[in-house]
Amino acid sequence: MYASKVFSRASNQGSRADDSSVTTATVNRRARRWVYRWLDRAHTALYPMRCRFCAAPASAGLELCRLCAAELPWLDSHCRQCALPLVNAGEERLCGNCLRHPPPFQRARAPFRYSHPVDGLIKSMKYGADLAAARLLGDLLADYLSRRQVALPDALIPVPLHPRGLSQRGFNQALELARRLGVPLAPHLVRRGRQTPPQSRLGGRERRHNMVGAFEVTARRMPAHVAVVDDVLTTGATATEITRVLRRAGAERVEIWVAARTHQPDR
Ligand SMILES: [Zn+2]
Ligand SMILES: [Zn+2]
Repeated sequence: MYASKVFSRASNQGSRADDSSVTTATVNRRARRWVYRWLDRAHTALYPMRCRFCAAPASAGLELCRLCAAELPWLDSHCRQCALPLVNAGEERLCGNCLRHPPPFQRARAPFRYSHPVDGLIKSMKYGADLAAARLLGDLLADYLSRRQVALPDALIPVPLHPRGLSQRGFNQALELARRLGVPLAPHLVRRGRQTPPQSRLGGRERRHNMVGAFEVTARRMPAHVAVVDDVLTTGATATEITRVLRRAGAERVEIWVAARTHQPDR
């Protein structure tokens, strides 16, 4: 809303300006673009991107080399629905939890197990304001979804933080991950209704109670296919509660997209 006001004021001023000032502005903009592109190229030539784990030359535009990428804890074998790591199961089996109590979301997708060094990247992003780690994790998640040809949702919703939590941390890690996925964001469809104690300090049953009533839908119309982005899927308490709220508001298909899945049982 704020941005659109700014743009409409700028365009009104533009319509009043004469042709010569428009031409000068265009030339200035082109010159700035040329200078910044040149500086960008010079910077890349002087300081080529390095792997953040071993300092070898980076690959594929990521802060990661091929060897370190191959050694990441890729989640190859997991439950089809909740992505719980399973031994020798491929990607088509359901875990015992999903067979007994299917979660309300259709499918969780996670490129990694929550173990070294991905756990360190996530902690660094969350507690160290390491936005480069967020960019790397987001790009790896985007690459994983693209390689699996996952259907794009109508709306991408980063799990919201309570305003007080947001002001303490300064950023929402789920939003920083979601920004890298190349899908239009809809962060204002849902808000945090109340502040809850951090899930990481609670057990499975407490986590479920903690999340009840934590989210409120703020949109009048809910898109049919929604993907919710978060950093980690642990017990599934947050994913389950936000899915319930979205389904009640009219979403037909909800997926959970996270950077990493823990080994802990889903419920
Ligand atoms: Zn490396
Ligand atoms: Zn499962």
